[in-house]
Amino acid sequence: MKNTTLYTPLQILQKHFGYDSFRPQQEEIIQHVLEGNDALVLMPTGGGKSICFQIPALLLDGLTIVISPLIALMKDQVEALLSNGIPAAFLNSTQSSSEQNQIVAEARSGELKLLYIAPERLFATDAEQFLKSLEVCLFAIDESHCISSWGHDFRPEYRKLDMLKSVFGNVPVMALTATADRVTRRDIKRQLGIKEAKEFISSFDRPNIRLNVSAGRKKMQQIEDFLRISPDQSGIIYCLSRKNTEKVAEALRNKGFSAEHYHAGCSGDRRAKVQEMFINDEVQVIVATIAFGMGIDKSNVRWVIHYNLPGNVEGFYQEIGRAGRDGEPAYALLFFSYADILQRKRFIDESGAPEEQKEVLRAKLDRMKQYAEARICRRRILLSYFNEEVSENCGNCDVCLNPPKLLDATVLAQKALSAVARTQESISLNLLIDILRGSRNQQIVQRGFDRLPTFAVGKDLKWEEWADYIMQMLNAGAVDIAYDEGHTFKLNNRSKAILKGEEKLELANYISFSDKQEMLNKAAANVNTDGLPMDENLFAQLKILRKNLAMEANIPPYIIFNDRSLRDMASFYPQSEAQMLSVSGVGEQKMQKYGYDFMKKIKEYCAANDIESLELKPETKPKKKVNTLEETLRLFEQGLAPESIAEQRMLSVNTIYGHLSQLKEAGNDIDLKRLVSRKTYEKVISAAEEMQFNSTGALKPLFEKLEGQVSYGEIKVALMIEKL
Ligand code: ADP
Ligand code: ZN
Repeated sequence: MKNTTLYTPLQILQKHFGYDSFRPQQEEIIQHVLEGNDALVLMPTGGGKSICFQIPALLLDGLTIVISPLIALMKDQVEALLSNGIPAAFLNSTQSSSEQNQIVAEARSGELKLLYIAPERLFATDAEQFLKSLEVCLFAIDESHCISSWGHDFRPEYRKLDMLKSVFGNVPVMALTATADRVTRRDIKRQLGIKEAKEFISSFDRPNIRLNVSAGRKKMQQIEDFLRISPDQSGIIYCLSRKNTEKVAEALRNKGFSAEHYHAGCSGDRRAKVQEMFINDEVQVIVATIAFGMGIDKSNVRWVIHYNLPGNVEGFYQEIGRAGRDGEPAYALLFFSYADILQRKRFIDESGAPEEQKEVLRAKLDRMKQYAEARICRRRILLSYFNEEVSENCGNCDVCLNPPKLLDATVLAQKALSAVARTQESISLNLLIDILRGSRNQQIVQRGFDRLPTFAVGKDLKWEEWADYIMQMLNAGAVDIAYDEGHTFKLNNRSKAILKGEEKLELANYISFSDKQEMLNKAAANVNTDGLPMDENLFAQLKILRKNLAMEANIPPYIIFNDRSLRDMASFYPQSEAQMLSVSGVGEQKMQKYGYDFMKKIKEYCAANDIESLELKPETKPKKKVNTLEETLRLFEQGLAPESIAEQRMLSVNTIYGHLSQLKEAGNDIDLKRLVSRKTYEKVISAAEEMQFNSTGALKPLFEKLEGQVSYGEIKVALMIEKL
């Protein structure tokens, strides 16, 4: 059995995942589990739950079993682990039995550190016998709210998981979820038999997601404006109806955007295909009903637009949470219209649910409306919904970035209400605005509205402005609308009080969508998360490289490097291995697999543009290198061969060779000739001479020249011997 406990969790995080530091709570959770305790982890989507069991899995002796209900997610996580050099696999019913047998054999032989299993698959055979045939060191139950019928996604097979604790009393159990209120949490612990498990509850805040709400008018135009300033950024537009998803997607395609629709009525083939295209960055926009998104782990979804108002804050928060899982700036735009509120209300009325439940649904809808109408920090409203106290404004919502200026709109409202009164409450929005603005069109003239005293009293305002104010009046309850009578306006008690001058009305000063967008962007420039100026051209080129490599490897682009990693690269131009390793998300394995390709691209770019690399986070970088080098040196001095060091340290042999040559360069006493055979040495040197290899360049051309017969590590060492 390998003794891997030489490492601290932080070292594992840096080495395997390429991240500098833990997010809040991660380290405590990992420590708690390493000490053999059970835990319940509640963290928002994208909060970083997986690392909480993946790092213990690497540090503990034995196999970690991960129970996960979603096959797509499972596959994604395993791919991500493999790309970080962590031996993992999954078992589910989509695999052939020979595939499954193969994986079970690997699990039994101790080759794997993590095994993901769907509960159906686990209980399809004798689960107890199966698990006993493995050396399990940890159970992680993902989406653990599925065990509770109090949760919103109850799955009966999850109930059988109670056997884990009763059969394997000594093996720690971790329950993880992104959604569970107090009752559900207690239920999860009871069902799993881990009543005493410590609860780790993270903040639900997702500060990287910018929140914005816009009036639900001319939505297509707004979307188009938005897409023009966000080229190539993946996003999801949620619509209420299936038909609308198709219409919106088509309209976008007609405008030249890359968009596809997705809803539960599409064929299984289509759904799988659209999902895959999205994951692989082959389609930019998905227009979907809420059927889309469950089980999609794509970390670089940059924005989510709600074309219609969601029915409750939970759903809304879950949906916007699909944006920016990589922690990079992301954007959530909600279109709000009174018509949506009414439609939602009608849904509830006609739902056939018991009255009691209808009341709950109405109250939930009301909270959603409060969010949409908010004139205070929207994030505070969201977080307070989840019972989180927030003492400061977020600085990253439209209200914070561009506080609405209130104006006394009493006179303005009187003009509109008076027009409604004088037309016997028989007009809808277009006609009302035409009267106010004095357009002498056919209908106005025919019905004699041009002779009304209110005709043209509002010609100082643009059409858009009137539409906005009237919408606000509706939201404020200053007027009603009868959707069943041709959307005509009706006066209510409040309207009458305003008309009589007994009540005042304040409205937010009108601002056009594009002006607002511009202001948000300007304001955003000042609150940029870490203020990194980025080279957009290089970023675009690195994205193309990422996509090509992903296609070759048949994995999603974000598994290769996430957006944050590319952004670091496009900010600091890393051109050495050490610089590359200090990029967020570049661990040792990814360095070996992809780092050189990216470095090459960056070098070319810098050479062509006369740019030098910048030192990236000098305070964190050397620490990472020194630790890992020292560890290799320590083992080497104990007399271990590179292969054994690699095995012990769970690194590739190449990496160890790399370490040893660096150590030698730094003046340590290392007999390099012990590390390569004479034959290999000669092969490398003659190939290098033949191609006039430049020893400061990337090794890849030389590696390719040698047709993969000699490892990178051996090449490095051979070149060093030559230099000495
Ligand atoms: P979830 O809680 O939804 O399961 P994940 O575990 O998938 O979230 O993590 C979301 C993203 O955040 C992943 O891309 C993951 O690699 C990244 N991440 C997790 N922990 C850290 C960290 N400490 N530093 C930087 N990125 C992290
Ligand atoms: Zn705010």
